[in-house]
Amino acid sequence: IEDNSIGVIIKATNFAAIKHKDQRRKDAAKTPYINHPIGVANILIEEGKVTDPAVIQAAILHDTVEDTDTTLEEIELIFGAEVRCLVDEVSDDKSLPKLERKMNQIKKSPKKSSKAKLVKLADKLYNLRDLAEQVPEGWEEDRVKEYFLWSAHVIKGMLGSNECLEKEIAKVLQGQNIDL
Ligand code: NDP
Ligand code: ZN
Repeated sequence: IEDNSIGVIIKATNFAAIKHKDQRRKDAAKTPYINHPIGVANILIEEGKVTDPAVIQAAILHDTVEDTDTTLEEIELIFGAEVRCLVDEVSDDKSLPKLERKMNQIKKSPKKSSKAKLVKLADKLYNLRDLAEQVPEGWEEDRVKEYFLWSAHVIKGMLGSNECLEKEIAKVLQGQNIDL
C-alpha cells in the first residue's frame, strides 16, 4: 500500500470496531454500532467523492470519544494531531445537558472547519436515512419529527460544503416535507 492511507484507515476501523464492540444501533434488528461509522466513511468516499485520508479516519472514529471510553489524547497518540482535532470538532460536549448539546450543534456547526463539516454532513445523512427507513424502538412520531427538524437546522449552517451530500440530505428531508 503505497502512501499507507489504506493502512491507517484499516487501523482506525479496527480501533473503532473494538471500542464499539458491545454497542448496537437503535433499530429493531439491533445492528452492530460499527456499521454506522463505516457507513459514514463509505458515504464520504462513494457519494461525497472525498479522498482525504484524515477525513475518512475521522469519520470512522467520529463516535468513539462521544460514545465510548476513548479519549482525544488516545486518538492523537495513535492517529495524530489532525485526526484528533477533527474528532474533537465532531464530538458533542457530554458534560452538557442534551437540549443544550442540540442547541450547540446548531450554533457551532457553521464555524467548524470544512473537513469537520464533511464528516458531520455524512453522519447526518446516514442517521436521517436510518430514521426515514425505520422508527427506532420506543420513539414517538413527535421525536422523529423533532430529530428531522433539528438536523435540518444543523445542516443549514453547513451548506456549500459538498454538493452531492447536500443534495442527498435534501432528498431525505423532502420525503418528510422539510425544505432545506
Ligand atoms: P438521541 O440523540 O438520543 O438519538 C439520536 C442519535 O442516535 C442519532 O444522532 C444517532 O447518533 C443515534 N442513532 C442510533 N441508532 C439510530 C437509528 N437507527 N436512527 C437514527 N439515529 C440513531 O435522540 P434525540 O436527539 O431525539 O434525543 C435527544 C432529545 O430528544 C432531547 O432534547 C430530549 O429531551 C428529547 N426527547 C424527546 C422525546 C420525545 O418524545 N419528543 C423523548 C425523549 C427525548 P450517532 O450518530 O451518534 O449514532
Ligand atoms: Zn454518528
